[in-house]
Amino acid sequence: MAQTPELIKPHAIVIPVPYQGHINPLVDLAINLASRGFTITFVNTEFVHHLLSKSHKNYSNDSTGTDADTDIFSEARKSGLDIRYMTMSDGFPLDFDRETNVFEFWEYLLEGFVVQVDELMENIVKSCDSPALYKHFLITDTFNSWHPKIAKKYNMVNVSFWTQPAVVFALEYHLDHLKKNGHYPPPKENSDDTITYVPGVDPISTKDLMSFLHETDITVVHKLVFRALEQIENADFILLNTVQELEPKTVPALNQILPTCAIGPVNFSSRNIKISKSLIQQTECTEWLQSKPPASVLYVSFGSLAQTTKQVIEEIAQGLLLADINFIWVVRKNIVIDSDATNVLPSGFERKMKEKGLIVPWCDQDSVLSNPGIGGFLTHCGWNSVLESMWHGVPMICYPFLYDQPTNRKLVVDDWKIGTNLCDGESVTRDEVAGKIKRLMCGEFREESKKVRTVLRNSLDAGGSSEKNLVRFVEDLKAKIHASN
Ligand code: UDP
Repeated sequence: MAQTPELIKPHAIVIPVPYQGHINPLVDLAINLASRGFTITFVNTEFVHHLLSKSHKNYSNDSTGTDADTDIFSEARKSGLDIRYMTMSDGFPLDFDRETNVFEFWEYLLEGFVVQVDELMENIVKSCDSPALYKHFLITDTFNSWHPKIAKKYNMVNVSFWTQPAVVFALEYHLDHLKKNGHYPPPKENSDDTITYVPGVDPISTKDLMSFLHETDITVVHKLVFRALEQIENADFILLNTVQELEPKTVPALNQILPTCAIGPVNFSSRNIKISKSLIQQTECTEWLQSKPPASVLYVSFGSLAQTTKQVIEEIAQGLLLADINFIWVVRKNIVIDSDATNVLPSGFERKMKEKGLIVPWCDQDSVLSNPGIGGFLTHCGWNSVLESMWHGVPMICYPFLYDQPTNRKLVVDDWKIGTNLCDGESVTRDEVAGKIKRLMCGEFREESKKVRTVLRNSLDAGGSSEKNLVRFVEDLKAKIHASN
């Protein structure tokens, strides 16, 4: 029997890209929408689920359960949210080394994964307990460029979620302009030019473009990005994890040509619900932080993917000692390229840092950044890290590696003036590192960072830009879902 539109429940099938920096904000968006009355099915790959289970069990000292016992949303459901959890194959066995064979893995995500998604959708649609009651729709990461095929086949409203700043979206979307003006592929001679012609984008130096736009060869990264932006016109809604006031020209310029909607930062929606998003076991830092004076600790982390050389680690380590400040440093297992050595720090470093430093393999970054002991963040400028730092009013020292990170650096340092570069030249030197750290920890950029924190927080308050955009999106989405048959 057909239901009247008011009784039909919109059901979002939410599928992230299987990496920490993509899963985190999409989990938060899912929680946010569930708290606005949506039914959600969140889907992780079996491999991601396996990592989550491992890190969760270790963290809670419960080593008895199996992967099947882990449901990251069980607490969310206890608090009344209609949010379900499923897993699906990513096409490879659990023991396939997705790090060493990263290009093979990404090639499959690009070309073959859609088969797995198709099977999943069929199962969800077939096994739906009351088909007349639910209207399924799709929310997926923009880099999951298979979305139009699936949305079309299952007649679903199609929502795309962009996890980076709007300026990065605009530069990639307008790639033809870069091509026409000879800025992509990069010119043979190493030129530093200013790009002035991308709609909604303030003049930007070519050196601040995303890393892959500096490469001549086409890799799977280029294919992933180019395909994502080619397919974006097929999305019914595009949610941007940014704030209109932070990118005041870019967001409106995109709004004029695409159904974009700036609703960020979404990253803080699940803070009051115990939820395990971390793919690596977290080390507790609160007690250590509590022993330190306010704003006296530098937090150092390069996110979940970036890798560097032993030389850079050495210079940063010596710079930290020279600066003579308190610090927490996330030294991830695989932080050094081509090294699985357990200790990549210079010999004697941990003895010399004494109680001033805490080295951890991974932590609860949001909890660390929210601690009053933190006075600065030496970051690789991953977009989630930038948003999290801004949310807590923590000024940044920027050391970008790849992808969107160089462009994010430009926003932080040149546009918003809430941070500085780690080194201004090509190489990282201990003296410059120490100098930059000391200046930041003395309070430079603190006032400006507080102002930006207010912008972010206001945007999510009732009547704030992101909240208003989200409310409008929800209304428009429901209307579209009810109109579709
Ligand atoms: N993160 C964390 N613990 C750490 C380091 C990072 O929980 O020790 C989280 C961080 O809060 C952020 C995500 O991992 O949400 C990293 O995303 P980001 O976009 O900053 O960088 P990526 O890992 O994608 O390069």
